[in-house]
Amino acid sequence: MNNFELYNPTKLVFGKGTVGRLGELVKPFGTRVLLVYGGGSIKRTGLYDQVLSQLSGIGVTVRELSGIEPNPRLSSVHKGVEICRKENIDFILPVGGGSVIDAAKAIAAGAKYDGDAWDFCTGKAQIEDALPLGTVLTLAATGSEMNGNAVISNWEEKLKRGLGSKLVYPKFSILDPELTFTVPRDQTVNGIVDIMSHVFEQYFSRTTDIPLQERFAESVLQTVIENGEKAIENGSDYEARANLLLSGTYALNGTLPNGVVTDWATHGIEHEVSAIYDIPHGAGLAIIFPNWMKYVYQERVERFVQYAVRVWNVDPAGKSDDEIALAGIQATRDYFTRIGAPATLGELNIGGDQLDRMAEEAVRYGAIGSFKKLEKADVKRILELSL
Ligand code: NAP
Ligand code: FE
Repeated sequence: MNNFELYNPTKLVFGKGTVGRLGELVKPFGTRVLLVYGGGSIKRTGLYDQVLSQLSGIGVTVRELSGIEPNPRLSSVHKGVEICRKENIDFILPVGGGSVIDAAKAIAAGAKYDGDAWDFCTGKAQIEDALPLGTVLTLAATGSEMNGNAVISNWEEKLKRGLGSKLVYPKFSILDPELTFTVPRDQTVNGIVDIMSHVFEQYFSRTTDIPLQERFAESVLQTVIENGEKAIENGSDYEARANLLLSGTYALNGTLPNGVVTDWATHGIEHEVSAIYDIPHGAGLAIIFPNWMKYVYQERVERFVQYAVRVWNVDPAGKSDDEIALAGIQATRDYFTRIGAPATLGELNIGGDQLDRMAEEAVRYGAIGSFKKLEKADVKRILELSL
């Protein structure tokens, strides 16, 4: 096991009715709040009214930034930064899914920076200060509610890049499973795939002698697999939604990578597809991940054998390591298909004409991944397998 530091300052407030705690949680952070939300789901579900009533209960001034896009755009971040400056905002409150939370993080850092917030995504600048933020999560997927990452799309340049800083961890996150009852089937599916993919990126590692981290990862996967299907079948199944929600948080809140060399190549490749075609992140991952697995599994077949046996209950009797590993990869693909996720880029009307550009951008800063280091030609091959 490698040395590591674990730091996570986010207070998680989990359970039924926890939006009722919002006023009390926001109060210590000032009197001028920027409420950030997406395309209107929070208005349709009535959450918007609940949030405003909590905020009016503590007498804060509220400004709003709505219309944050799925795959949030830099242009929205710019709008938010401008409001923060003009309105002297003390605290940012994203209410929504990962896109809304990610945009809020970039706004929080951008408001305290003289240059363009995009600089944090290109490595031109490091975040040195940020406004505090707290979240109300409405969708199980990204883990953004309890980490210091954000992914922003620069639509003009057709680039999607991440930023990360200890300074943009949410001060608190409210997770009420009932708020996720209204998540439509396709977004529930995208969330399931994203959560599983976050685990894969940390589980398919070359690091050895990490039994606890491996079992943590396997337990998150099994919990998602079981409860994901239940949540799809019945969107109002509280326990299924609750277990899915908590799994999403644990998949990417710093628990799984302790002492582990992680990979993240598939996320990098997916971001290049989303950057050009604006597809849902989870859909892109469902297409690409099993192909990445097939492409790399021989680098360390025993890890894929363990995955197949422990997560998918593949019976190893009479099979070679290769056969067991491939059966686990096939089980992954079959599960994605069973829940309704796409398996090819073609299903999303994406052809092969941009593969070269996507592969080039994916390795712009050098080879990606650690389980197998991927050069441009490797990325292109994985994308070809995904067509
Ligand atoms: P999302 O883009 O935030 O939301 C997807 C859709 O679901 C939106 O149309 C949204 O509608 C709707 N929605 C959300 N909650 C709902 C509810 N309770 N009821 C009905 N509809 C609801 O989805 P996401 O998967 O959470 O976020 C994806 C983004 O996060 C991508 O850009 C991805 O790259 C990024 N990401 C970030 C991290 C990280 O660590 N920060 C990790 C992985 C991925 P409204 O807009 O109307 O609300
Ligand atoms: Fe993701």
